[in-house]
Amino acid sequence: MPGGKRARKGRKGAKGKRGGKGERGSALEEKLLLRERMAWEGLKRGEDRAIAEFAEGYKAFLTEGKSLREAARAIVAAARAAGFRELGEAKRARAGARLYTVNRGKGVALAVMGKRPISEGVLIIASHIDAPRLDLKQKPLYEDSLTHLALFKTHYYGGIKKYQWVNHPMSLHGTVSLRDGKTVEFAIGEREGDPVFTVPDLLPHLWGKSQATRKADETVKGEELNLIVGSRPVDDKKAKEKVKLLVLDHLNREYGIVEEDLISAEVEAVPAGPARDVGFDRSMVGAYGQDDRSCAYTAMRAILGAGEPDRTCIALFVDKEEIGSESNTSMKSRFFLNFVGDLMALQDPAYRESDLRRAMSRSKCLSADVNAALDPTFKDVHEAQNAALLGRGVTITKYTGGGGKYNANDATAEYVGEVRRLFNKAGVRWQYGALGKVDEGGGGTVAKFLAEFDMDVVDIGPALLSMHSPFELSSKADIYHTHKAFVAFFAM
Ligand code: MN
Ligand code: MN
Repeated sequence: MPGGKRARKGRKGAKGKRGGKGERGSALEEKLLLRERMAWEGLKRGEDRAIAEFAEGYKAFLTEGKSLREAARAIVAAARAAGFRELGEAKRARAGARLYTVNRGKGVALAVMGKRPISEGVLIIASHIDAPRLDLKQKPLYEDSLTHLALFKTHYYGGIKKYQWVNHPMSLHGTVSLRDGKTVEFAIGEREGDPVFTVPDLLPHLWGKSQATRKADETVKGEELNLIVGSRPVDDKKAKEKVKLLVLDHLNREYGIVEEDLISAEVEAVPAGPARDVGFDRSMVGAYGQDDRSCAYTAMRAILGAGEPDRTCIALFVDKEEIGSESNTSMKSRFFLNFVGDLMALQDPAYRESDLRRAMSRSKCLSADVNAALDPTFKDVHEAQNAALLGRGVTITKYTGGGGKYNANDATAEYVGEVRRLFNKAGVRWQYGALGKVDEGGGGTVAKFLAEFDMDVVDIGPALLSMHSPFELSSKADIYHTHKAFVAFFAM
């Protein structure tokens, strides 16, 4: 974080010393230069412990919400425990009222009603709870005729480096709509004693001809991400695919599933196991799904802690960010607009459509998403001066996109200024970070879809290493300051 005590001291020191010797250089530096330091430096009393404690709750959230729907359920459970009621249960909403709604089990919106009317604008933090993964195909199960192994075919979801997803213990998280209209949910591979599943990769002894000469992005191809789920035949002399049949028999006895049911199913294969501390100093968290559940957790904690705010605060947790925000559970869905309209109706049943449009225009938003931390081994892809560092606080990103800022949300200078001053005042340790070198690649967030409502939006979030891998890495100090930033924003 720039500024602070040292800068003020510097200003005083520089006075009347122009052209002098000795201190002049450092005084000018103090006065003029952007000061950047690690968030671990200059900790206040008790902050060390606060950072560690916050990380414990964060890890528990990551471990509990391994799938999209589980993350949504974890958010709803925490909100209900903190006094949030379902929107449909409310007749009127006074200042301080805590309301939520769920979009098809995959998205959540939480609101704390403010003292001012919604038509004057609201404060929104929008994060996403979908994460890259291997989805089962709708006709997933087959038995390989030669090896007699049963496998699930998958279709990967989001941008992954496919070779990273082999040879890992994987868990399965499913929602299946059965023939009789009932829905079953299951999670296998997370509890102690559960079996896990895995995509096998070739041994190094034999990869020479068929795999070693492939280009890196084809080392493992999409159609090769097949998950092993069984190897034992059913004891039935007349049956043809006996191993496949035993798998189906298990699914049927446990959950009432038959093969056709899998057509109306959503089953995610994700890396099994809990979030872990990383490093001798335990300064980092290693876990699947930190893009973007790091922002979901910190935003959730911030809104749960909001009392009776001046302006209505909304925390949005959306789906499908990783595939361009398509579908009815994404940021592009009318779900969000309908939610704000419903909140307005609770404040003033006679509100007009033009009030809703005005409310959106006057709103302020943080697009809460992660950025890439400078990789110590692959520095070349970053432009170091504008790259975020792991452990230097929450990252502000003015614009996203790539190739000439194409597809970017570009926050105005004024709004970035407002957010920067807010963070400085609240003692939030923050840094600036852009994604990669010019023309090296790029990426987008939900920011541009919120900007379409004519509101101010800027991207904020922690920087990660190993993003979109089965084991993403964050800094506990960055997670702590992301939460602090969100608390400050909701208190605007
Ligand atoms: Mn993201
Ligand atoms: Mn992502």
